[in-house]
Amino acid sequence: MIVILKPEAPEALVKDIVSHIESIGLQAHLSRGQFRTIIGVVGEEEKINPEQLKSLTGVEQVVPIMKPYKLASREFHKEDSVFEIPCPISGSVKIGGPHCLAIAGPCAAEDEEMVHQLAREVVAAGATVLRGGAYKPRTSPYTFQGHGEEALKWLRDAGKANNMPVITEVMDTRHVQVIEQYTDIFQIGARNMQNFNLLFEVGKTRKPVVLKRGLAGSISEWLMSAEYVLSQGNRRVILCERGIKTFETSLRYTLDLSAVPVAKSLSHLPVIVDPSHAAGDRQYVPALARAAIAAGADGFMIECHDCPSKAMCDGPQALLPDTFTHLMKDLTNIASVLGRKFSTTPKP
Ligand code: PEP
Ligand code: MN
Repeated sequence: MIVILKPEAPEALVKDIVSHIESIGLQAHLSRGQFRTIIGVVGEEEKINPEQLKSLTGVEQVVPIMKPYKLASREFHKEDSVFEIPCPISGSVKIGGPHCLAIAGPCAAEDEEMVHQLAREVVAAGATVLRGGAYKPRTSPYTFQGHGEEALKWLRDAGKANNMPVITEVMDTRHVQVIEQYTDIFQIGARNMQNFNLLFEVGKTRKPVVLKRGLAGSISEWLMSAEYVLSQGNRRVILCERGIKTFETSLRYTLDLSAVPVAKSLSHLPVIVDPSHAAGDRQYVPALARAAIAAGADGFMIECHDCPSKAMCDGPQALLPDTFTHLMKDLTNIASVLGRKFSTTPKP
């Protein structure tokens, strides 16, 4: 349930209600809007008497949340969530509301020089966050699995050199601590959308989490997965649509663009799109990216490579930096038609 406070409710009342909720073994999550504060009550709600809460001065309404996800729901937080992500040297970038986020980089961090080179190229094109895999979720156990901690260092250093926050995938609860030392954003891959222990672990950190939609995950299941992270107190979850399995086989997956407006109507969390993994073929990536921003996505994640034919993974879908530069111009224009703007890299 949510407890909606009157605009004039004093801070002392907020504290009282929170301690009452916690004293009976439930969790209280605060959502401070522009005009009023909402307290989300999570746990066994039968333990609480809504009438008693309603009778307190300063409480305007006590409303049950019908959806299975609570903290991820629009009911809990009416406005679009806006997150600030600190850059490694100075300033920060924003996502949500009017702010769009451009994430680009290689599928895998292959060696130090390539990571630095690509970081320079994508930041020059207008990307603000550097992506790169250190631990790769490969279909075959015999293919390249990522360079692990060494790759995390290359990513962190390249991020620092260009004042770009870094995002990298975490696949295993045993890696959360080490990855946390290097990354600015955790990525939960499509195959791990319902790895609930992993979601709990990243939820215990205070770094933003990009949560990819599972290959066969419904929107409701995706939001329940976000709830796992949010329930641990980590508020900065960014949803990422990356294509789902359907009967259609012309591309690797089917990019479900309807997921963008649907997820955004059900949830206050930002939603980005990864057209690279959806298409699996660079020829289609620009069109899908343009459509994603037009559909209201809060940003994108795109794979780039200087020599895709030599890429250690996902070469066929990687854009050349030149193509990415042109695409970024289109995406900036499309965003501006919708009254939105891509975050830019703060000058260090
Ligand atoms: C990736 O981003 O490199 C990746 C493997 O993505 P997904 O989990 O969407 O397949
Ligand atoms: Mn990839």
